Amino acid sequence: MFSTDDTIAAIATPLGRSGVGIVRLSGPDSARIVCTLLGRSRPLEPRRATLAKLRASASFVGDQVLVTHFPRPHSYTGEDVTELSAHGSPVVLQGILRALITHGARLAEPGEFTLRAFLNGKLDLVQAEAVGDLIDAVTPVQARAAFDQLDGTLTTAIREIEARLFDVVARLEASLDFPEEGYHFIDVPAARVELEQVRGRIEKLLRGAARGRLVREGATVAIVGTPNVGKSSLFNALLQAERAIVTPIAGTTRDLVSERVDLAGWSIALVDTAGIRASADVVEIEGVTRAREAAASADVVIMVVDGSRPLDDDDCDMLRATAQRPRVVAINKADLAHAWTAESIAESFMVRVSARMATGLDELAMQVAAALGGEKPERDQPLVTNLRHITLLERARDALGRGIASIGGTAHAISEEFLLADLQEATTALQEITGRRTPDDLLQHIFQNFCVGK
Ligand code: GDP
Repeated sequence: MFSTDDTIAAIATPLGRSGVGIVRLSGPDSARIVCTLLGRSRPLEPRRATLAKLRASASFVGDQVLVTHFPRPHSYTGEDVTELSAHGSPVVLQGILRALITHGARLAEPGEFTLRAFLNGKLDLVQAEAVGDLIDAVTPVQARAAFDQLDGTLTTAIREIEARLFDVVARLEASLDFPEEGYHFIDVPAARVELEQVRGRIEKLLRGAARGRLVREGATVAIVGTPNVGKSSLFNALLQAERAIVTPIAGTTRDLVSERVDLAGWSIALVDTAGIRASADVVEIEGVTRAREAAASADVVIMVVDGSRPLDDDDCDMLRATAQRPRVVAINKADLAHAWTAESIAESFMVRVSARMATGLDELAMQVAAALGGEKPERDQPLVTNLRHITLLERARDALGRGIASIGGTAHAISEEFLLADLQEATTALQEITGRRTPDDLLQHIFQNFCVGK
């Protein structure tokens, strides 16, 4: 399924008008194919950008290009890689790609360059997935988390855990292999302590996982409140666009309106909701139901109140209803005279804003980030962001837990076979994260989400 002996080619830059566009090849024939295309008999000098002319023909427009050849194994994929930087017109780039294919290259599948890098041991699976995440990152926090993983922080942490587990397993197996000697290469209480330490390290990684998932997948933030407090105005102000309809007529927003926005570096699906109040209008009742559901399922709620008029019963009901949710209270209309003081509601995340004047919005964004789990990434622990990694870490933790439980409190009467089976399961799960053990369908699943050319 994963052939690596042919030469693949793809356009690596987005198709559109740009100064420069890159076409790359990877595989044993990449230099030969490019030299044929250039009509060049001299070999390409390794890693030196060379100016060359692609002559126009009946089927090809021609261009001036820079060619760079990276001989294996010192290339992204670990194979011979040749890159052509041409002028970034789709006509030129597609023409070059077509010509390369005519000369023997095959059009690359999505993610095939990175797949080859993985198969050739240039990256492990965590790092390969981080490449995809980095390309997909839309906020600085996402990009930083992805780059950390590409840099190997998570890989190193998992390898260390795996190595410690391997050591315990090896000693337990030795004890099992030479039982007649009556000698145990590891005594059982010591094994228990070491396994608990391994489990502790996995749990430490998992502690940041909820936040990590929000970083990678984005969080949902719902703007809720009673009618006319300025929810839609705030939504538009945070979006810096007139997306939701703003009117002085209460009950204008009937359905959920959602847009993606970068708030303090987080990728947020921001949801504007209908004002929550008792109503006889069937459409408004449905809107209110959806608003309540959005408030209940959002990762963080921005509870908007109007600072220019006294809080009414509906406001107080909503403040109570959202009190258990991670939330930020936004006291809107700060440009008008205050009708009440902020001290009357004790709240850890609270900010005065004016949607109309666009004031207090940065502070609001910071508080939303804080409510999501801290605006600063923890520096001492790699952030686990990927659900696949989280699931496998949980499987490893649970298998270790079963193993530890089977040892029990006694130093005797443990079944080493059962214990080893649990530890083997934990090891397998850890190895699946970094890709030391990888079923083909998993690789296909991971790389099909990449763009072509990476
Ligand atoms: P929603 O029903 O909660 O979505 O409220 P809207 O965004 O539709 O706003 C209701 C009314 O309050 C409109 O007339 C807005 O112009 C006004 N409004 C919203 N935000 C502010 C603000 O920050 N200051 C002032 N003075 N008026 C605002």
